[in-house]
Amino acid sequence: MQQNKENQGKIMDTKDYIERENKYLAQNYHPLPVVLTKAEGVWVWDNDGNKYLDFLSAYSAVSAGHLNARIKKAMIDQLEDMDVPSRAFYTDKLGAFAEKLCQVTGMDKMLPMNTGAEAVETAIKAARRWGYEVKGIAEDQAKILVVDGNFHGRTTTIVGFSSDPAYKKNFGPYDGGFDIIPYGDADALEQAITPDTCAFMFETMQGEGGIIIPPKGYLKKVQEICRKHNVLLILDEIQCGMARTGKDFAFQHEIDKPDGLILGKALGGGIYPVSAFLARKDVMDIFVPGTHGSTFGGNPIAAAIGLEALNIMEDDKLAERSAELGAYLKDQLEDINTDCITEIRGAGLWIGVDIDPDVVSAREVCERLQHKGLLCKETHETVVRFAPPLTITKEDIDWAISQVREVLSDIADRHEAA
Ligand SMILES: *Cc1c(COP(=O)(O)O)cnc(C)c1O
Repeated sequence: MQQNKENQGKIMDTKDYIERENKYLAQNYHPLPVVLTKAEGVWVWDNDGNKYLDFLSAYSAVSAGHLNARIKKAMIDQLEDMDVPSRAFYTDKLGAFAEKLCQVTGMDKMLPMNTGAEAVETAIKAARRWGYEVKGIAEDQAKILVVDGNFHGRTTTIVGFSSDPAYKKNFGPYDGGFDIIPYGDADALEQAITPDTCAFMFETMQGEGGIIIPPKGYLKKVQEICRKHNVLLILDEIQCGMARTGKDFAFQHEIDKPDGLILGKALGGGIYPVSAFLARKDVMDIFVPGTHGSTFGGNPIAAAIGLEALNIMEDDKLAERSAELGAYLKDQLEDINTDCITEIRGAGLWIGVDIDPDVVSAREVCERLQHKGLLCKETHETVVRFAPPLTITKEDIDWAISQVREVLSDIADRHEAA
């Protein structure tokens, strides 16, 4: 059957779309029961024509808004010229993207990949090889320190050092090259470092962990300790980078730059997977031809989109918007008088709301918000994450707040009645 654009009418019932996905797809996600068919800016529409404000923005991948006109144009323009030639050849696009990315981050060099997990794997390879070839660690002894509650993606190496059993159980054996230390505790870092430690890698602010912001001064202190012991400081800003926390990059709240930096998600403008590992020159120089690669990494479409995502971040002052509107959203949430909320944390338009599990589950809060036209997703059982596109307006935030207020007040009424 031909489905053309004019035929905007429903061709299947919502429940049939859901049943088909459930029948043919691995059940590694637990989506909210909504079937999305259209998106624009901060809004998405479902199969029944209902409109929702997107308060998740694909875990921060859609920070520039859905189908951002400039990202879309950059992609379409590139499709007029060239597709994927592989890195066997130079192109006219990759250098410009790399140059811009190094300029805005302050890093010396970059290595382009596609997904976040691949960029994390790249960081791990760089750190270990630097450990052997520059720091002089004995063969196969290099250790990378990571933190409790970490999230760096889903490959076997990465889940091997997760502290969440759901992510790692029965996917082993794991290679043991990682040690987990408490997050936000600089003394714990100093104690954990040995001569075999090549790097300390963590999220500048934790996303999947529940929007966890370490104590003020932590990053600065960590940098001093890493320097003192010749340990690479590698920050995963796949989720918290790209203006999400109110600065272009979250490390800029405290330090000039790390030794290694991992970016992804919003770097692809919400349209295409674009990730990168950035590092000091002497760290990146351990990669020589043949040591690493990616067929699609850094292709001209990715490069054109990544460059435009960076230009939009600057031109639209996304970091300032995030800081201002995020502070406003947090204030408004704090004003809601309810027993459901036990804590509100956040930086910029990236806010974690702790829900009291004795009153209601975070999942139910999200389901109820869905019925009010606000899409967000719980992380773990007790945290609701608010992360709208950074292009959102104050008016749309006001509307969202009133939905949150209504949902929490309904839940409070039910709780009191019980
Ligand atoms: C999403 C995420 C990743 C993994 O990115 P993928 O593109 O899903 O592989 C890694 N680190 C952090 C902090 C993330 O939020």
